[in-house]
Amino acid sequence: MVIIVGTGAGGAIIARELAKDDIPVTIIEKGPYIKSKDAFNYYDVYNDDVDLLTTTCIGGATIVSMSNMVRALDEELYEFDIGISDEYKYVENLINVHQLDDSHIGRGTQLFLDAARELGLNTMKMPKAIREKDCIQCGKCAFGCPADAKWSGKDFVDEAVDMGAKLITEAEVIDVIVEDSQVKGVKYIKDDNEESCLSDTVVLSAGAIGSTLILRQAGIDAGRELFFDPFVSVGGYIKDINFNTEVQMAGLVIGKNFVLSPHFSSFIKGNIDDKKVSDEDILSIMVKTADDAKGYVDDDGDVVKINTINDIRYLAEGVATAGFILEKAGVDPSTIGSTVYRGAHPGGTAAIGKVVDTNQETEIKGLFVSDASVLPVSPGKPPILTILALSKRLADHLKNK
Ligand SMILES: Cc1cc2nc3c(=O)[nH]c(=O)nc-3n(C[C@H](O)[C@H](O)[C@H](O)COP(=O)(O)OP(=O)(O)OC[C@H]3O[C@@H](n4cnc5c(N)ncnc54)[C@H](O)[C@@H]3O)c2cc1C
Repeated sequence: MVIIVGTGAGGAIIARELAKDDIPVTIIEKGPYIKSKDAFNYYDVYNDDVDLLTTTCIGGATIVSMSNMVRALDEELYEFDIGISDEYKYVENLINVHQLDDSHIGRGTQLFLDAARELGLNTMKMPKAIREKDCIQCGKCAFGCPADAKWSGKDFVDEAVDMGAKLITEAEVIDVIVEDSQVKGVKYIKDDNEESCLSDTVVLSAGAIGSTLILRQAGIDAGRELFFDPFVSVGGYIKDINFNTEVQMAGLVIGKNFVLSPHFSSFIKGNIDDKKVSDEDILSIMVKTADDAKGYVDDDGDVVKINTINDIRYLAEGVATAGFILEKAGVDPSTIGSTVYRGAHPGGTAAIGKVVDTNQETEIKGLFVSDASVLPVSPGKPPILTILALSKRLADHLKNK
């Protein structure tokens, strides 16, 4: 039997792949089993110094994701002799990654695409795992999906359970059981009671912060390096653009040191003095960069983010380019404002080559990690597809064992 801790991008696919081959699986998830549309209630709260977006519920952060699916880190992983091109093809096919049909490209997104192309930028429609036939184009991807139209880890957990996997929810794994450097199971808290689940194979997929806390409890010094792919959304006023109800992040510009994607933020209107400006009048662009892994999880479990000179430089380059796109798209330049600096892709806390080996195994035999923790550097791009591909690779490795 294999124990999988967490049901986000890393854990869900491993559960599915193993259950599909009749390998007994027990999935332990800290959060509740919820409907996708209710996911916005399950965002985590961190300290006041860091604006980090993660969730605790079935599907992890995939359930509030925009379902953007891009390949990343191929070259960086090759440095560890890890090739995942077959795994990328497998997962892209499995979750039907594709650029959205034009029927699902709204007016604001089209203005973004046209303006970026006119400026000669490397521009395309975003590859996504959204089912157009179900999508009601409400703009609420980051709330969870009211129409259940996008892929999330919950889909794979449901499949795994249908194929015989056992799912324990609202159960927080607090430690691993180890004998003679071999994992023997996990301890978890459910309904205020401490319980245990035994197995010689445990996969931690509790996310960059969750897996760090469990690894530390097991005596492994994880979480001393952390990136989070910083982002801001910048935007301004175009009367009645109604961008707030479009499918979000359906366009993509790939710059040298940043990516840009149309992304509504209601915070932008707070920067505009005119009280008559409403959500319907805002066009905004997310600027996302790769950051140096200079953050960390401190000894109290709090996340600390330190920004380097390059982090700020790359963000400034992206924001400047976004400003040109916004102006060309028709936004009044005098109204352009920004959200605060945030992160939604924490990772690197148990990096391959540092905390886990190239099979994602820790120094404790049978204890694996498969989530954003293992990414060796910040992708600066949506990481779900890379986590899925690495986790599919680990599932195959476990099957071969
Ligand atoms: C608003 C938002 C939009 C995003 N959009 C995209 C996007 O479009 N494309 C993309 O590629 N990425 C996107 N991301 C990022 C992406 O969702 C994450 O990078 C990815 O889900 C990380 O996967 P993971 O397996 O590391 O962790 P998670 O998906 O966070 O899963 C971790 C799981 O472990 C559980 N857990 C934690 N601690 C414990 C414990 N002690 N015991 C048991 N269970 C535990 C959690 O409840 C959670 O279910 C987005 C993120 C956010 C917040």
